[in-house]
Amino acid sequence: MAGFPPALDRLVQTLGRLPGIGRKSATRIALKLVSSSEAECRELADSIVDARSRTVRCSECGSFTEDDPCSICTDTRRDPSVICVVERASDVLALERTGRFRGRYHVLGGVLSPLDGIGPENLRIDSLLARVTSRQVTEVILALNPTAEGEATALYLARILGSRGVTVSKLASGLPVGGDLDLADELTLGTALEERRAF
Ligand SMILES: [Zn+2]
Repeated sequence: MAGFPPALDRLVQTLGRLPGIGRKSATRIALKLVSSSEAECRELADSIVDARSRTVRCSECGSFTEDDPCSICTDTRRDPSVICVVERASDVLALERTGRFRGRYHVLGGVLSPLDGIGPENLRIDSLLARVTSRQVTEVILALNPTAEGEATALYLARILGSRGVTVSKLASGLPVGGDLDLADELTLGTALEERRAF
C-alpha cells in the first residue's frame, strides 16, 4: 500500500506526537492543513512560534505567563496566606473557572512517580517550601489529581508541610477517581474546593 508523500507523512508524525492526538486525528488534521490556504497554515505556524516565544513560567508559582510574576501572583486582592498546590498549569485554569478561590497557586510540574524516575527533586517542591517559609502562608491546599500517584504525592507533601506549622488541606472527595482536575465540571470542582478538609 502506498503511503503519503514524505512531507505529508512527516506532518502526520509530528502532529501525532502531541498529547491526545492519535494517528487517526493526526491524519485528519494534516489532510485539512494541506487543503487549506498558505495564509491559514502560516497563521497557525506563526501562532505556535509566537506563543512559544512569549510564554514563560512564572518564577513564583510556576504557571504560564507573559509577564513574570504572573497576574495571579501580583494581584494584591488575592490572599497570599493560602496556596493551592496543583500538578499542572491547566489545573490553575480549571480552578480559576470555578471562581471560588481567592488565594494563590503553586504548580508542581507533575507528581511523584518512582516507576517513571520522578522523585521530589524533579518537582517544584523546594520552591513551594521556600514560599511557605518566607511568606505568611497559613494554609496549603493540596489539589492534586485523584490518582494513586496524586494521593502518594499529597501524603508526601502533607508530611513535610505539616512539620512547618501550616494547615494542610485537601479537596473534598467527589471528584472522579483517576481523572483529571481540568476535566471536572466547575460546580464539582468548586464544591470540592470549598468543602476541603484537613489532611
Ligand atoms: Zn505566578
